Amino acid sequence: MSRLKKCAAVAIVLLLFAQRAAAEQLPVVASFSILADLVRVVGGERVSVTALVGPDADAHAFDPTPQDAKRLARARLVVVNGLGFEGWQQRLVQAAAYRGEVVVASSGVRPRGHAHEGEHEGGHDHGHLDPHAWQDPRNVIIYTANIAAALARADPDGATVYRANAARYQQALRELDAWAASRFAAIPVQQRRAVTAHAAFDYLAARYGLRLTALQALSTHSEPGARAMGELVRRLRADGTVPVFAENLHNARLLRQLAGEAGLTIGGKLYSDALSGARGPAPTYLALMRYNVDQLARGMQGK
Ligand code: ZN
Repeated sequence: MSRLKKCAAVAIVLLLFAQRAAAEQLPVVASFSILADLVRVVGGERVSVTALVGPDADAHAFDPTPQDAKRLARARLVVVNGLGFEGWQQRLVQAAAYRGEVVVASSGVRPRGHAHEGEHEGGHDHGHLDPHAWQDPRNVIIYTANIAAALARADPDGATVYRANAARYQQALRELDAWAASRFAAIPVQQRRAVTAHAAFDYLAARYGLRLTALQALSTHSEPGARAMGELVRRLRADGTVPVFAENLHNARLLRQLAGEAGLTIGGKLYSDALSGARGPAPTYLALMRYNVDQLARGMQGK
């Protein structure tokens, strides 16, 4: 065989391998972008992941389309957050006639109660649980263990790979947690205060001893009424300088109004329930957490 033919033969074999690998990837659907990132990390090359609610989009106010039902029907595994986050999940699973496993990534997490109910746009009922458990990196260790176990059930040949990927990532999560803890520990307790757009950061606040006030925790409606706004403005004025943060999901109009009336300025933007796009500062969960912690810490230190 000539050298050229040999090369061609090798190339064809490689191509066939690549095609086979692509064809055999486990199709997984995750409910939102943060969860999709976790599945991608744990699944590695063996899985192909689709997020129903993509970057910078609001999973609370999601309205599934027939296209989403088709994506679900093709999936071998569906991963959701749970804790009432995906109010639309059951409807979609039924519409898609999906019969595979629906993994609840937050299973085993100690849930925090919701300080407020139904404050989200669209009036989704959260029940009494706060769904934003991923804001505490220690909870994400549990998320990734659940994801690894579910992937291993769906694809037993990959079990060792999933466990190893999860273990490696869990080490990164522990380092993230230690870094965040030391970052906030450097700030005096009475200075660890901020105002956020919606009450998505309670798990973060509880973990690192922060006092966060959410604009949309004031009312059971999507926007607080004039009286509640007035009360918050008075409280913030009395409290002195508190950094105010917008969010990647929400319109900042009301937040600007609040900040203006209280004589405060909006310090920056936090990524709460969705990653940023690839070019943004929070394209992965780890990047999101580092960015949010850094933004909050700088704001609290007046930097
Ligand atoms: Zn939320």
